[in-house]
Amino acid sequence: MAQQDLRVVVLGAGMAGILAGIKLLERGYRDITLYEKADRVGGTWRENTYPGLTCDVPSHHYTYSFERNPDWTRHLPPGAEIQSYFERTTEKYGLYDVIRFNEEATSARFENGRWHLGLRSGRQDVADVLIAATGVLHKPRFPDIKGADTFTGHLFHSARWDHSVDLDGKRIGVIGNGSTGVQIISALAGRAAKIEHYQRTAQWIMPVENGYFSDEERAAFRDPAVLEQAMQTETYMAGVERYTEAVTDMESEGAREMAAICLANLENNVQDPALREKLRPDHAPLCKRLIFSPDYYQAIQHPNAALVTEGIECIEPSGIRTRDGELHELDIIVFATGFHPDCFMRPMTITGRNGADLEDLWHEKPLAYLAISMPDFPNLFMLNGPSGPVGNFSLIDIAENQWGYIEQLMDRIRSGECQEIAPTRDALAAYEASRVEAAKQTVWFRGGCNSWYLDKQGVPASWPWNYSRFVDMMTTPDWRAFGLATPFAPKEGAAVAN
Ligand code: NAP
Repeated sequence: MAQQDLRVVVLGAGMAGILAGIKLLERGYRDITLYEKADRVGGTWRENTYPGLTCDVPSHHYTYSFERNPDWTRHLPPGAEIQSYFERTTEKYGLYDVIRFNEEATSARFENGRWHLGLRSGRQDVADVLIAATGVLHKPRFPDIKGADTFTGHLFHSARWDHSVDLDGKRIGVIGNGSTGVQIISALAGRAAKIEHYQRTAQWIMPVENGYFSDEERAAFRDPAVLEQAMQTETYMAGVERYTEAVTDMESEGAREMAAICLANLENNVQDPALREKLRPDHAPLCKRLIFSPDYYQAIQHPNAALVTEGIECIEPSGIRTRDGELHELDIIVFATGFHPDCFMRPMTITGRNGADLEDLWHEKPLAYLAISMPDFPNLFMLNGPSGPVGNFSLIDIAENQWGYIEQLMDRIRSGECQEIAPTRDALAAYEASRVEAAKQTVWFRGGCNSWYLDKQGVPASWPWNYSRFVDMMTTPDWRAFGLATPFAPKEGAAVAN
């Protein structure tokens, strides 16, 4: 079997697309293109620029494993530093040569064994393998609040921050208290004349340190051995495992421990008993994505800050009217109201083998075998696709594991051993059935809350098992799921190049 020179197209140049590009070049793929709809790399870190933007994964664990960054200034990485890390990495690995910016793929059709792409510019392209690295949370969710269009101040979504608006000394209302809303309040409490946080459901807050690395520490991190030691990878990965176990087993020791820490954080750090009760969640910790914050409780107790738990009746020209009839006059309203979590490649039109329409497969909810591939859509592989792991850990690590799996699928095509790789319908059905069964045991389902983790039927849409199971599943594909009985055994002289 001869090794084939495959043409590979990657959709998106965010964290996952950059990873795919680097890995493809590293493995000797030369005919590759990344299409990016915007004019810069970075994905979510390009789009989110709100004040206080921080990733809650420890800085040194929020990098590619092959490109550590000694220069992080803080224990938790600020959004702007993450964005420049991705830009630097893109440059360093020579990816700018293969990225086409301001090119959005609008359609992909599998015909005669290849993917035929339509681009918004009117151009077309063809690929043997298509990698969808389009991200998860990229379509802002605007709340359906009456009168929003009548507001005469500034109103914008957290992911579309309007930096032309001066914030100092202003009256600001922030709707939503997910990770985003909490970070915005912490950043602005000292700057605004008045800041009101509109909370519909109280959240559990996990305390976390976010100190600065000293110049000496950062200099020392240039030595990979010192950095590796400082990262305490084993301890961190044990924490990830414990976290995923706490999600999958509400009665686990880890779940009880995390609950106790969050509860103590609330009890010990909110002085006013009335405010404390308003901030006390009515669901199990981890049911919603846990919020890590070093300073939210402090911020919400700032003299200029107020927590508003009265429901929102409507928005009026001068502010927000709550259901008790009070008008809260504001200069700026921020919708920190999250994202539509079921978009992935949407709004692309994707047509697979024999005219299969992705929208038919995804009619009820996005589906993918092991979050990576779909029957009837051969040679199309997703990074951070539907039902992949999400939580308070690094999605970079998740994407790297998924890439290891995808590489093995691509090797079989590249070797010429098979032309098309897609899981069977039975494999997807069996995976999804066991996934849903397990998902119904998780705290996301049983913990008594609503969240973006749930699909339209109220079932968690994510990976419902622990982290090590994910790593195991990514290590070696079960080839029977792809209708390939035997493990891959390249003949001598036809081995895949590295
Ligand atoms: P989110 O977690 O989905 O939170 C949306 C918030 O908006 C919730 O508090 C929700 O209230 C509220 N909301 C929605 N519609 C509303 C309405 N009509 N009226 C009042 N309140 C309304 O969104 P997010 O905070 O942007 O975070 C999304 C995800 O992005 C996170 O879970 C995380 O995965 C990622 N993220 C990560 C970090 C990080 O540090 N790594 C930072 C930011 C974001 P209910 O709870 O009542 O529904």
